[in-house]
Amino acid sequence: MDCPRCSVEMTTIAGDDGVMQRCSDCGGLWVENSDVNRFLVHGDLPALTAIGGFLNTEEMAGQCPACQVDLVEVEGGQKKALHYDTCESCGGIWVEGPEEGDLPETLDWKGGAKQVVGFFRQFAKK
Ligand SMILES: [Zn+2]
Ligand SMILES: [Zn+2]
Repeated sequence: MDCPRCSVEMTTIAGDDGVMQRCSDCGGLWVENSDVNRFLVHGDLPALTAIGGFLNTEEMAGQCPACQVDLVEVEGGQKKALHYDTCESCGGIWVEGPEEGDLPETLDWKGGAKQVVGFFRQFAKK
């Protein structure tokens, strides 16, 4: 699967019963819908549908690496400063890499889960 941003091949990170994809160029993560919700529950956060957000249909968000359909951008967080991309077909989500600091060269499943939970913790803030 290619990164929806950089169009480079992503690295597969294997977990106990799933996989996610990571772009080592931008640090973005592609996570399947069921895994996202599992991470959120473990992070004491509401499910993705309950977190809400605002669809931004103006923004071209790239293509789903799994279904090759256009992704939609969802904005949220304080002053709508954050966004993630999602595929309306498979429900997968794309979370960008950390903006500050050096990108770790590799990330394991736990690290990926931490990145996703950290992002949605900020995203859920109103
Ligand atoms: Zn990338
Ligand atoms: Zn998809």
